Amino acid sequence: MAAHLFAIFGNPVSHSKSPLMHNLAFKGLEFDGCYNRYRLENGEMLRETFFTLGLKGINITVPHKEHAYNACDTLDDFAKKVGAVNTIVEKNGKLYGYNTDAPGFLKAIGEFGDVKTVLFLGAGGTAQSTAVILKEAGYEVTILNRSAPRLERFIKEGFETATFENFSPKAYDLVVNMTSAGLEDESLPAPQGILDDVIPEAKACVDVIYGKETPFLKLAKVHGKPTKDGSDMLLYQGIIAFEHFTDHRYGFDEIKHHMQKAFEL
Ligand code: NDP
Repeated sequence: MAAHLFAIFGNPVSHSKSPLMHNLAFKGLEFDGCYNRYRLENGEMLRETFFTLGLKGINITVPHKEHAYNACDTLDDFAKKVGAVNTIVEKNGKLYGYNTDAPGFLKAIGEFGDVKTVLFLGAGGTAQSTAVILKEAGYEVTILNRSAPRLERFIKEGFETATFENFSPKAYDLVVNMTSAGLEDESLPAPQGILDDVIPEAKACVDVIYGKETPFLKLAKVHGKPTKDGSDMLLYQGIIAFEHFTDHRYGFDEIKHHMQKAFEL
């Protein structure tokens, strides 16, 4: 058996690429680790399950990121600020929590270069952590959501927000689908009339969903815009998690070299 065991906790979890990504990096870097998947039904059991399975680290996906936050003994500053943890590492019997989704997204949009204004479609957990990191990095982020309640937190944090009913379109450099619309269905994340106003003004369109071309990205292509799906975000959040899992012993590009093979298979 490998010296260090890792897993992804979620429900569902069968679709996750994380085991392949991390195991390819362990193998390529000759690190004695093994990464599995675990379908966790009850998020309250996260901490107990972690220790029962004798794990060294986990990633956490839907719907347990808030439970993961509560399960930790120590949180890094950013995870504490955004209230969501997707990476936990055990050190001397204590659980340390991190959020690598948001820095993963920040890195993924870095390739678009000259981008200042960003429109997020969606106001869920992923939008929340990524909006904060983008703001800290100097981007101006506007949040457009189907319904009002989830916007309250963003309003408190000083973001410009709107629902479909009170939205006044402006020019945004990037338009990003931060919802799950298009993941299991063929729906757009906002009414087509709104998208037909904002997409033509954008330099590019980004989706956090990966592994398929969503209706949103198809529409962006109809408008002739460059697009990017959620694969790079997934890869980069995985690399940053791997850095934590292996106590920063490997460089980002070194890990990337092995982990990105998961997207070529
Ligand atoms: P949440 O469940 O927290 O939030 C969902 C958001 O989507 C809400 O704002 C909701 O609006 C909106 N929404 C859902 N369905 C529709 C619809 N049909 N039309 C319009 N709005 C809709 O989700 P998360 O923030 O956890 O995840 C969002 C997406 O990010 C998922 O698709 C997930 O797979 C992806 N993701 C990708 C990652 C990657 O590495 N690529 C990493 C993490 C997440 P309302 O408030 O009105 O209900």
